Amino acid sequence: MITRHFGIPVTSPGAILRRERDLGTALGQETAEALRSGGLVSDKIIIELIEDWLRLHGGHGFVFDGFPRTLLQAESLMSMSTKLRTALDLVIWLEVSEETVRDRITGRLQCGECGFTTSSSSAQFANRPVCPYCDGRLERRNDDDLGVLQTRLQEFRTKTEPLGAFYKKVSVLHRIDGNRDRDAVFSEISRLIEDKTPK
Ligand SMILES: [Zn+2]
Repeated sequence: MITRHFGIPVTSPGAILRRERDLGTALGQETAEALRSGGLVSDKIIIELIEDWLRLHGGHGFVFDGFPRTLLQAESLMSMSTKLRTALDLVIWLEVSEETVRDRITGRLQCGECGFTTSSSSAQFANRPVCPYCDGRLERRNDDDLGVLQTRLQEFRTKTEPLGAFYKKVSVLHRIDGNRDRDAVFSEISRLIEDKTPK
């Protein structure tokens, strides 16, 4: 939604890894199992992938979704942006309850072609689940099992939670309530981005 609305490229470690897997690269094969089982890919690999992506696509602004998730990732992003002579304008922290996470994980569908995500409750399908943008097949993601939820929550508490204090120091952090519907969350994010965009 951000790319369509603002023309800013958005990526996530998951999207980059799925692409590597689909291209059949060595790295893609190495990380496919972690992706499938919801396991964690090492900081080192994630940081290298993000750095490559930034070199290729980060020239005119960028948004990362789900990165950084650890202090090491956050520190690396700081040094990457110093190298690229660009400053982080905004860090958005979506606060969601465990209940919301659980509901979304069980109902999430993703297009196998373009990566568009929706939920089975908000999408109305006539006969078969197809993507409204490219007609690709909408599928339940493999790593969306409730089985991996506990691991993720644990990872979040131990590794991601400390990033709040890290980014608070550089005063770019905005916490917003992510338990609302997609449109409400998007319009609040849009306002934050608009405030940062040079007029
Ligand atoms: Zn699609």
